[in-house]
Amino acid sequence: MKQIYTYGGYLKEKFGCKVYKVGINISGFTCPNIDGTVAKGGCTFCENDSFSASTDEVKELKGFHLNLDSIENPFLEKQLLQLEQQFDAISKRQVREYGAEKFLVYFQSFTNTYAPFETLKALYEKALSFPNVVGLSIGTRSDSITEETLEYLAELAKKSEIWLEFGIQSVYDETLEKINRGHDSANVKEWIIKSKEAGVNVCGHLIFGLSGETQEMMLETSRAAYEWGIDSVKYHPLYVVKRTALANEYTRGEFTPISEEEYLEVLTKSLQMKPKHVHVQRVTAGLDDDALLAPQWCRDKNTQIKNINKALKKVGMKY
Ligand code: SF4
Repeated sequence: MKQIYTYGGYLKEKFGCKVYKVGINISGFTCPNIDGTVAKGGCTFCENDSFSASTDEVKELKGFHLNLDSIENPFLEKQLLQLEQQFDAISKRQVREYGAEKFLVYFQSFTNTYAPFETLKALYEKALSFPNVVGLSIGTRSDSITEETLEYLAELAKKSEIWLEFGIQSVYDETLEKINRGHDSANVKEWIIKSKEAGVNVCGHLIFGLSGETQEMMLETSRAAYEWGIDSVKYHPLYVVKRTALANEYTRGEFTPISEEEYLEVLTKSLQMKPKHVHVQRVTAGLDDDALLAPQWCRDKNTQIKNINKALKKVGMKY
């Protein structure tokens, strides 16, 4: 049985111990696809609270958004404190429950390079100063990172493990338009290649089950992402969250979620096509709460993983 190369396996090989990602949610960050810079409303499936923890500090700063034109950030101290408190709480739990030994600080919610440069620098440097932190993973959009930020990250990458996580979603521009993505596929390709050339590691996020996409299209997206040089990949089925544009499409009968059978089939094929050196950070996603509208199979992550392993077993692989 061929074991799929996981991100955890890669980190263990590289650092010789258990390295965990600590997901952080910084208040004041937003997304150009939400604040009107690129578009309004965000990607049709996005309800950002659904994939990030909402802590008390986050609620306190909610509504405040960084002004990109100003280097003044009156909330920086609060953001730094929030970063420290979240890191402390989450990393301690990871040590207790999983025996974590080292950490990557994962800037997870919204667009984490979309802020004044000085703010980014202060947050990234603070994160790197925490005990046993070996690097950063920064979730962002390919249209929201400047040359200045990339250059700075490239400098950090000489001493630390630095990752950019880009939402690729689909290589088809008509799909990206349908989901109101606000950038095209050429833009993602350009910034993945630039990041790699600068010496920064890249994780690509792929979504299977986007409106109007056939299995061939989903596999073509995988093929392109591998070819552009991603180091790591996260696969997600598209699920419908309440209070999103996609939820309205679903309710009107204009969107049918991918079935579990089809997801398993396309995921298996994509994993078979994957170059050996690309590690896998995630094979599915789900939401076990009231906000999930459909499909119901995305509710139970443990069952999903079991079914993925059953499907993979048939082709001699395991996750
Ligand atoms: S880019 Fe991310 S944060 Fe922005 S609207 Fe899309 S899914 Fe939401």
